[in-house]
Amino acid sequence: MARIVMKFGGTSVADCDRIRNVALRVKTEVDRGNQVAVVVSAMSGVTNQLVDYCRQIAPLHDAKEYDTVVSTGEQVTIGLLAMALQEIGVPARSWMGWQLPVRSDGAHGKARIETIETEGILSHMSAGQVAVVAGFQGLGPENRVTTLGRGGSDTSAVALAAALGAERCDIYTDVDGVYTTDPRIVAKARKLDKITYEEMLELASLGAKVLQTRSVEMAMKHRVRVQVLSSFVDAPGTLVCDEDEIVEKELVSGIAYSRDEAKVTLVRVADRPGVAAAIFGPLAEANINVDMIVQNVSEDGKSTDLTFTVGKADLDRTVNLLGEKKQSLGYERLVPDSNVVKVSVIGMGMRSHAGVAQKMFSTLAEKAINIQVISTSEIKVSVLIAEEYTELALRALHSAYGLDAQ
Ligand code: ASP
Ligand code: MG
Repeated sequence: MARIVMKFGGTSVADCDRIRNVALRVKTEVDRGNQVAVVVSAMSGVTNQLVDYCRQIAPLHDAKEYDTVVSTGEQVTIGLLAMALQEIGVPARSWMGWQLPVRSDGAHGKARIETIETEGILSHMSAGQVAVVAGFQGLGPENRVTTLGRGGSDTSAVALAAALGAERCDIYTDVDGVYTTDPRIVAKARKLDKITYEEMLELASLGAKVLQTRSVEMAMKHRVRVQVLSSFVDAPGTLVCDEDEIVEKELVSGIAYSRDEAKVTLVRVADRPGVAAAIFGPLAEANINVDMIVQNVSEDGKSTDLTFTVGKADLDRTVNLLGEKKQSLGYERLVPDSNVVKVSVIGMGMRSHAGVAQKMFSTLAEKAINIQVISTSEIKVSVLIAEEYTELALRALHSAYGLDAQ
């Protein structure tokens, strides 16, 4: 007998038929003799609707009341799923976040889970009852309901699995696993059987929308084995796990892309100490995340060009902020460009093999795709290219690294 956590996202509980289907999936695990906790999201579209209500009533709403409102979607699904389970003879009860409780910090709207008390649900689970737990919800230090950020019920599920010492956390979603790249763009994309935490973390933070980034961090920290699988197809999905569990290691496991970034170039910035600090300080203060940065060596020792990327949503604010400081920063021109995409190749194999970056550069060169900015980490190489080359670049790289499905 194993203890497992199953998580179902919004599309998996989108209507009553789907909730009944989820109940059947849960029953299968119960019939296998497993102890099951289920974490659910709100029915699809519901959280968006709730967020919209808040915006309509007060554009600059009180974050605590926002959480009071947007956390309610999950309350509906836990009750409905518990009923659906009871209808097919499976003992079940619902649990709100505060009833466990799932304790979080007080950062309303994007709270972090601190601890989960499991005594209560464990006693029910060992008596043979399925625990149906609301995802996305926490209880803050002032006894107010918090939410964990959009997509947060993935994190709820992984955190609960860690707290329960579960053997596995199965995340049921509308895709059947994690792919080598976006299958909507590259028809030859392959579903991965296994992927390491580190690689999944890069994929998630680079735009693959399968799992909330924080949930992967949480899984990595607590070594929770996470399986991503479809709630509509009966097939094994992708296991996110420790490197040691993966026998056949690929050099590159996946290729991600993000259209969410925009490029900013400051032309002829003064080349003297403190300039980078003067540029990036105000951006950090304004909570604008800077991702890639390149600065050229100045030819004349006086000025140089500086290029960096920010989220597309932050581009206007960035242009305004730096525009106001044109005098003090002493640059000549500011050139914004949102017509870019960041393409990244990811693989643990890079740590021990040379030539991965070189293959990326030569593959793009063969297709006459110009690389504008490059950044690397231990297991990733990212390049910024013009957006119109997204498909071409992804397909070429996918073949070049031998990832194409046969
Ligand atoms: N219902 C929340 C959202 O839509 C949490 C989740 O689905 O993971 O963001
Ligand atoms: Mg989700």
